Amino acid sequence: MILIDGKKEAANLREELRKEVSRLKTIYNKVPGLTVILIGDLTPSQIYVRNKEKSAKEVGLKSEVIKYPDSVDEKTILDKIDKLNKDETVSGILVQLPLPKHINKKKVIEAIIPEKDVDGFHPVNVGNLSSGYESSVPCTPLGCYLLIKKVEPNLSGKKAVVIGRSNLNGKPMTQLLLKENCTVTITHSKTKDLKGECLQGDIVVAAVGIPELVKGDWIKKNSIVIDVGINKTEKGIVGDVAFEEVSKIAKAITPVPGGVGPMTIACLLKNTIECFKRSQS
Ligand code: NAD
Repeated sequence: MILIDGKKEAANLREELRKEVSRLKTIYNKVPGLTVILIGDLTPSQIYVRNKEKSAKEVGLKSEVIKYPDSVDEKTILDKIDKLNKDETVSGILVQLPLPKHINKKKVIEAIIPEKDVDGFHPVNVGNLSSGYESSVPCTPLGCYLLIKKVEPNLSGKKAVVIGRSNLNGKPMTQLLLKENCTVTITHSKTKDLKGECLQGDIVVAAVGIPELVKGDWIKKNSIVIDVGINKTEKGIVGDVAFEEVSKIAKAITPVPGGVGPMTIACLLKNTIECFKRSQS
């Protein structure tokens, strides 16, 4: 059984990106810039943003965090995004979610120009991904995709089962696997026979938010299992996959923590660098 080491893969990716940033610096005499907008004082968001800033600096990006109190009005945020859209030193803009209730998430996502949308949430990027065109891809599914490709470079003809249909994870994951010529089944809370669907998968990606939902007898022998879930339980953080059982059956599996999670931020840096490169060409 292969234990997919997300920490190691993310460190390798960051090292590759660090070299790429220094190469770009010699060519353009400038480096890609990432600006993160953080609204309010939710602790998990603060931790995520701190980690994003630290990793961005580590690979040599220009990184900036702009903080606003919970009470900030929507117009202030939209005006700031407008300024950042026009700022040539900013390659990528990210507004940390969730937002306070009085700020419209859709308006904020659509205010960031698609060229600087490093989260890949803008409808233009969503459309480009589903049409098979170049685009920013949401960071977590992109990380899952890179981990799957490490284990199995040729995915053509494989049967993939994605559990969860969120815009953040399930839907873009499905598009990435389709692009690789997988036959993809997307499942969700209304799926009739989830176990039966999972048993078909050469690849199973679980992005649900239910602790240890996917059991050992749901998984085909020699499959690749990617666990996106992060669930706080009495026994600590667990994924959507019953790791002990499933790891006895699968060919390869990501642990939680230390699997998909570390890849997410590395992919954000990758997206920022890609946005910079597209803006120079
Ligand atoms: P979400 O709540 O937006 O979507 C969950 C999806 O699961 C929905 O499409 C729903 O239909 C489906 N679902 C719910 N119950 C189900 C059931 N019983 N059977 C089958 N499908 C069911 O969640 P999300 O934002 O996609 O996040 C999913 C999980 O991934 C969460 O645990 C979250 O914390 C985690 N997450 C991890 C990372 C990371 O970096 N590793 C990033 C984002 C989210």
